[in-house]
Amino acid sequence: LAERLQETFKKLKGKGRLTEEDVDQALKEVRRALIGADVNFLVVKDFIAKVKERAIGSDVLQSLTPAQQVIKIVHDELAELMGGSNSKIELAPAPPTVIMMVGLHGAGKTTTTAKLANLLRRQGRRPMLVAADIYRPAAIKQLQVLGGQLNMPVFSMGDSVAPPDIARAAVDKAKRDGNDLIIIDTAGRLHIDEELMAELRRVVDAVHPNEILLVVDSMTGQDAVNVAKTFNEMLSLTGVVLTKLDGDTRGGAALSVKAVTGCPIKFIGMGEKLDALEQFHPERMADRILGMGDVMTLIEKAQANFDAEQVEKLNKRIRSMEFTLDDFVQQINQVKKMGPLDQILGMIPGLGNMKKLKDLDFDEKELVFVEAIISSMTPWERQNPQEIKGNRRKRIARGSGTSVQDVNRLLKQFDQTRKMMRQVMDMEKNIKKGKVGK
Ligand code: GDP
Ligand code: MG
Repeated sequence: LAERLQETFKKLKGKGRLTEEDVDQALKEVRRALIGADVNFLVVKDFIAKVKERAIGSDVLQSLTPAQQVIKIVHDELAELMGGSNSKIELAPAPPTVIMMVGLHGAGKTTTTAKLANLLRRQGRRPMLVAADIYRPAAIKQLQVLGGQLNMPVFSMGDSVAPPDIARAAVDKAKRDGNDLIIIDTAGRLHIDEELMAELRRVVDAVHPNEILLVVDSMTGQDAVNVAKTFNEMLSLTGVVLTKLDGDTRGGAALSVKAVTGCPIKFIGMGEKLDALEQFHPERMADRILGMGDVMTLIEKAQANFDAEQVEKLNKRIRSMEFTLDDFVQQINQVKKMGPLDQILGMIPGLGNMKKLKDLDFDEKELVFVEAIISSMTPWERQNPQEIKGNRRKRIARGSGTSVQDVNRLLKQFDQTRKMMRQVMDMEKNIKKGKVGK
């Protein structure tokens, strides 16, 4: 898609104001791309109309080419359509907070139950898992195994007690044990049916969950949207978890789900492992759907947030590969102002689709750790990170109240960042030379 769009956009060059014809041309490609990415047809139609309205007659910003201007509008509108900002989990005023997972067979409910508990525990909650899928053979066992891996309590009453009763008993148990959050794994069906819905509603009536999260498989594309619509009508969902986005899917379902149901997407599943659940970021999904690096935004953000003098200093250091852990801390603070690092890097053409970016996932909260770890290093170590081996790593972990794995991960991230930064700098050099963008 990126290529085709660039091609179309080439024709828009050198114009001061976007005309209807220009915009139509460009949007034809965008429309095709969105349909190709599995976005609902009606959603695409609305979307295109909106972008068109915003784009026609708008002045082309001095710093942008008309092509970049259209990309920017499309990108912004995509993000807006998917919910603008991130959605958080609603906590109960009096614990335990009750989260109920619903969805069809194989969507990823049980896995996501465990993943979500893992994520929320890292945010300071004390979750308990509740096995309320009494129909699927071995469903209870599956949750127990996952709970065991996470060293987390799993509540079950076997498969002969009705799910609403299990849910009620689980709330009592959580109160007694001091678990401030429970996540109820429920049964699915191959298709939506009235019997399933009635039972899920009885669970809702029994425990009044603070969150009812629908788990949908993003690989099912348009079907995911229909499923979301029906579940929402029957159960009033509070949010959606889109799983299996680590596969080939373009993420188009994300766009339609929000547009069709009005339900925010709260999390995305990015793999089978128990840490492969992420908060949903509309901006990143917009990038993914467009499938292209957005140099313009990168530069725009960089210029708005980076202290020019510091950038220059950093440039020199990176070019000479003197970039040290001290710079890294400073860098992280700068990056914090710009937004998530992988998002920034994702804007660089060619890097956007790199799997490697996922390893660079900087959680905002992890940054506190990062600073603690680096503070526990000696000045010499900070200048010579490659010399930090086993014993030093242990000492640093102890000193910063983290684990050796944390230190390992940080050093790896640092190393990757160093490489990435170099690529960024090369990019910037090329832009200055006029090879890209203009
Ligand atoms: P349930 O029937 O809804 O409870 O679904 P499960 O939790 O049992 O998951 C079905 C399958 O999907 C399992 O093999 C999971 O490992 C897999 N799965 C769930 N979430 C993801 C994801 O985000 N990415 C990938 N690749 N696989 C997933
Ligand atoms: Mg299950």
